[in-house]
Amino acid sequence: MKIGVLALQGDFDAHRLRLEELGAEVVLVKKPEQLDAIDALVIPGGESGTFLKLLGEEGFAKLKDFVHAKPTFGTCAGAILLATEVENPQQKGLGALNIRIRRNAYGRQIDSSIRQGLLGTSPIEMVFIRAPKIEHVGEGVEILATEGNDPVAVRQGKTMAATFHPELSDDPRVHQAFLDLVRNGKETNKR
Ligand code: GLN
Repeated sequence: MKIGVLALQGDFDAHRLRLEELGAEVVLVKKPEQLDAIDALVIPGGESGTFLKLLGEEGFAKLKDFVHAKPTFGTCAGAILLATEVENPQQKGLGALNIRIRRNAYGRQIDSSIRQGLLGTSPIEMVFIRAPKIEHVGEGVEILATEGNDPVAVRQGKTMAATFHPELSDDPRVHQAFLDLVRNGKETNKR
């Protein structure tokens, strides 16, 4: 089982390290055609607008096919890319997660912070960097983690996303949850 990490931009290497620590075989995906050779994908943080530019129309279409077919986990900018609806400003999404997400939602003053949230019911450290906010959770989307009243990690079928950066905390649970989803496959909890 090969896990790809989209390596166009952003903090892909921290994801690679964490996944390897958890025993996964990782491939850095720099070209869209590499998507054909992997079983699951992580889309890291970075700038979602830049990702769109670097992907181009063809890369976007190829990525869209992939995320609708195989397990994908997006963090921060990756979560933005996976959404059906993106605002501030509006931009296109891959439509794999039925959520509305607002970019740079915390403003400049608190654009980066480390906070404690809950993964299910267990406390977990969360690193937020110019984070988006999930403003609406649509049908079929399960909330995996919260910070205050906000959903900050969600899952729909085989797609997972977090608005924080689990790869920057010393806690493997979120990546482990994704690897479990990849291994156990299927849309187990689809409502
Ligand atoms: N602010 C970025 C965006 O809107 C996301 C930030 C991040 O990935 N750390 O795409």
